[in-house]
Amino acid sequence: MQGFRYIEGVVTLQLTDKLCVGCGMCEIVCPHTVFAVSGGKAALLDPDGCMECGACANNCPTGALAVNPGVGCASYIIQKWWMKITGKTGEIKCC
Ligand code: SF4
Ligand code: SF4
Repeated sequence: MQGFRYIEGVVTLQLTDKLCVGCGMCEIVCPHTVFAVSGGKAALLDPDGCMECGACANNCPTGALAVNPGVGCASYIIQKWWMKITGKTGEIKCC
């Protein structure tokens, strides 16, 4: 799924900097290289690369991360992927 992106500027991902202890778990589990951890803190390297899968928030030991996982992004990505491989065009519907 690397290379597929959600809609720009609407991601629900939030990082509470003061809660981050720099463990690096988010950097490890994120399939889209959204995080960079250095100097004991995580930073959002590419927020719009987030697919809202929830893996980072589920694995963050301090609750520093929050994201609203949903089916809307999956629906959007699958429709976009389908158009790409079939060459079809049209409106992409998302919840
Ligand atoms: S998993 Fe949580 S505590 Fe660990 S680096 Fe990422 S945001 Fe910080
Ligand atoms: S929700 Fe998934 S894609 Fe988004 S930042 Fe977290 S691990 Fe990465």
